[in-house]
Amino acid sequence: MRERLLRLTAPVLERPVVVIESDDWGPGPADQALALAALRERLLRFRDLAGNPAVMTIGVVLSIPDPAAIAATGEYRACLLDAPAYRPIVKALLEGERAGVFALQLHGMAHYWPENFLAFWRRDEAVRRWLAEDGWRTEKLPAWLQSRWIDAAHGLPSKPLPAEAIRRAVAEETACFARCFGRPPKVVVPPTFVWDENAERAYAEAGVEVLITPGRRFPGRDAQGRLLPADRSYRHGQTLASGLKCLVRDVYFEPALGHDPAETLAQIESKWSRREPALLETHRFNFLDGNLGDSLAALERLLRGVLESFPEVRFLSSRQLAMDAPTAAPLSARLQTAWRRLRG
Ligand SMILES: [Zn+2]
Repeated sequence: MRERLLRLTAPVLERPVVVIESDDWGPGPADQALALAALRERLLRFRDLAGNPAVMTIGVVLSIPDPAAIAATGEYRACLLDAPAYRPIVKALLEGERAGVFALQLHGMAHYWPENFLAFWRRDEAVRRWLAEDGWRTEKLPAWLQSRWIDAAHGLPSKPLPAEAIRRAVAEETACFARCFGRPPKVVVPPTFVWDENAERAYAEAGVEVLITPGRRFPGRDAQGRLLPADRSYRHGQTLASGLKCLVRDVYFEPALGHDPAETLAQIESKWSRREPALLETHRFNFLDGNLGDSLAALERLLRGVLESFPEVRFLSSRQLAMDAPTAAPLSARLQTAWRRLRG
């Protein structure tokens, strides 16, 4: 009931809004640059009535572990996205942004907390093998290790990180983002949606304006590595004590996992029936390793369906949605929306 009441006060959209959010892009093989170029080309084919192309926000991971340096020193060392080897990837991201189809946002300096990674690397043979063979695919690490804002260096359950360590890490990652892309990030997606009040404050202090949430915050990992129960709820467009504005992303579109565009369209319809935006979550793995062709075809079916079913749709980035949502719905629509949101 509390969540329904929270939803009641969310902005009432004047027209349907679809945001496609894709996480985990970062240092790795140049295949990613090819996939990003293909995505740019495909997204440009679809425009809303205002002439804006379909937008995919890109949650960027700024570094991966450096296998040779870690093996040689036994200490944590990283390869950063601003290294010359990854220039094709950065170039593809910036070209997409210039074309208006990508909006770059911060996912994290790394898709883990480095001390957790190093401690696990020291004791786990599978992670040592992963690092030697496949050390850029952070999506293949154990789920708990992919959380960034937890201390699990001495095992699970996780503990909170000291506020000062989080503050330093956020300053480091926003500076690295600015080196890569020529400006600091304005939108952040906390990895695995595990974060706390200190991370929220640190993001805001570093100039971040928008926090992407799944509508809840998970404060850590239990003894089995599962997400701890949520410790708070969020609603669309809510301004937090830290000053961050938050959005709720809870529609899943992962074609490589079998998500059908028709089902995603039904979820967009359901969001629109309550005049809420549809933020779609999709990850880079859909567009790599032989999945690219099928996933692009699914994305194309989805976007064609969106334009047919919702001719008034607006394609926006998360930041545009948070800062300037199209909300001028007539009174009758507002009342109907309130009723639908209360019914849940
Ligand atoms: Zn991620």
